[in-house]
Amino acid sequence: MLERRTLFPNVIEMNYQARRRFGCCVYLVFDGEDWMLIDIGYEDTAREIIDMIRQMDFPLAKCKYLVVTHADADHIQGLKLAQEMLPQAVSVGHPLAKSALADGDRILTYAEIPAQGISINLPRIHLGKTIDEGDLLEVGNLKIETWHTPGHTQSQLAFRLGDLLFSGDNIFRDGCVGNIDAHHGSDISAFIKSLERIRDSDVKWLLPSHGPAFRKDNRLLQDTIDRLEKYQHMADFGTCAVDWPLLDEWEAELSKQFDPELV
Ligand SMILES: [Zn+2]
Repeated sequence: MLERRTLFPNVIEMNYQARRRFGCCVYLVFDGEDWMLIDIGYEDTAREIIDMIRQMDFPLAKCKYLVVTHADADHIQGLKLAQEMLPQAVSVGHPLAKSALADGDRILTYAEIPAQGISINLPRIHLGKTIDEGDLLEVGNLKIETWHTPGHTQSQLAFRLGDLLFSGDNIFRDGCVGNIDAHHGSDISAFIKSLERIRDSDVKWLLPSHGPAFRKDNRLLQDTIDRLEKYQHMADFGTCAVDWPLLDEWEAELSKQFDPELV
């Protein structure tokens, strides 16, 4: 039997458990014999992760949910294999994640980024149930609350368990956020609202989908919000910006003769 290395009571993270990096964070939430997984990661590590869970003495038949934080390939590519290994578990995610996975949408899921030569296998995946804001997942006596936190992508969910927030790709320990990309359904205004919600909540710990867990720090959150506020008015993220004041300045200046002395 493998010793269980809990991060917090009722919570194991499989990269910490293995003491090496598999890919995205894979959280196992348990109470008694019941458990659920938040994201499974890539296909080539899914079997090893489930084998470790078996060796930690969790009955495989007691996996209640396979949870999808959002539909990105690095979070869910292994889900089909996990579903085969854990057939009684209900796969859950946001309705927009369900449709992206059912359609095998290779752009929205980042399975295909032609300009960077990225093309990975993405099996068609069926989610058994959709969940959205306020829905509760019950594992033993635990109640895990679903938050809809769009921004990185429209289907992004986070999950609250007491003082802990499984915060998905909303914010990482260094203040970075999940990729902002128009083709991915990113929305900077929605992202800011999701970050403000996390800032204003009384959760104490953030357990992100990439990198280490960390104590919620409102200064870090505010710095990130301020940065995204700027992005809304900058060309850096193209069509994700709400405006670009330079174009208004240019328009005003076009009515005058260009004067090299003034610029
Ligand atoms: Zn991610």
